[in-house]
Amino acid sequence: MTLPPCAARLRANPAHWGLPVWKAALASLALAATLLCAAVGQNPASSEKSGQVVLRWLGTAGWEISDGKTVILIDPYISRIFGPQPPGRTPYERAAGDTRPLYGWDDAAVPDGAAIDAHVPRADFVLVTHTHYDHVLDVPHIALKTHAVVLGTESTENVLRAYRVPEEQLITVRGGEDYEFGTFSVKVIPSLHSPLDHKHYFSSEKASEGMKAPLTLRQMHPEGGTLAYLIRFHGHQILVFGGMNYIEREIEGLQPDVVLVGAAGSRKENYDYSGRLMRAVHFPALVLPTHWDNFTAPYGASQQSSIEALQSFIEEIKAASPKTKVITPKYFEAIPLSAAAQ
Ligand SMILES: [Zn+2]
Ligand SMILES: [Zn+2]
Repeated sequence: MTLPPCAARLRANPAHWGLPVWKAALASLALAATLLCAAVGQNPASSEKSGQVVLRWLGTAGWEISDGKTVILIDPYISRIFGPQPPGRTPYERAAGDTRPLYGWDDAAVPDGAAIDAHVPRADFVLVTHTHYDHVLDVPHIALKTHAVVLGTESTENVLRAYRVPEEQLITVRGGEDYEFGTFSVKVIPSLHSPLDHKHYFSSEKASEGMKAPLTLRQMHPEGGTLAYLIRFHGHQILVFGGMNYIEREIEGLQPDVVLVGAAGSRKENYDYSGRLMRAVHFPALVLPTHWDNFTAPYGASQQSSIEALQSFIEEIKAASPKTKVITPKYFEAIPLSAAAQ
């Protein structure tokens, strides 16, 4: 990660930072340095517009957002286990050659370390929207490997504690926080989970304290409340959702240029989902649909039916916000953002 320019002078030689919690320490230093910058009348680096921000979709609700120096992950889920599906989704039929084990709710979930290592070489921050296995299963492995700082609900952090991720890496949030990290800032936004099962999905449960790894899928699937995030990074404002719902009053007045919008079929359970969203956030320049693929299928499997179902979402966005560009992401393909508006 990079410190603000006025703070860079304060940074010790990183070669001496050999501790496993060095990134958390750097985050703390960046925060302190930013406060110092503010005190001498300079803007924090998160308001600078100098870097090229690139997004990559990891599948499901997973994203990498990076300027080549600081790597921010959203709900990274690379393992794509053959596990239980959300209600109402078309079951994945195992293709020839797919030898993945079939997991039930009471099986301990094993992340695919080789796949994670191949696609997530490093990370500085991980932002988790909620504690469901398709959002959180890989996060302990990634946190332990990269020493990234993880923002999430108390429920999410309890899953990480079960895997002995150090407390220094855990930043527990509940929605309403607006945190400065030096190269970027994050507004944490209270949100809602997708109205699965024709509006019958509801959970007020959270992952409990004191659990011991390995956790079963059931133990890492209590939701624990749902968050959205507004990331300010090199002049861009990237609004991130991890599913198919939002609280309108919590996003009203935001003016992101990029929105990652949950686009699977359960969005249709909401009244005027795309229209209300586009109006609330002032018709953003770019929408990237997220969480629309069948995440129980491996990366190489056809997503044709999901791509066909996605077309109605694209039409909704176009109808609500004709000037908004919609890009259908492909797994791991770089999506460079155009220069931030001055
Ligand atoms: Zn979920
Ligand atoms: Zn999900």
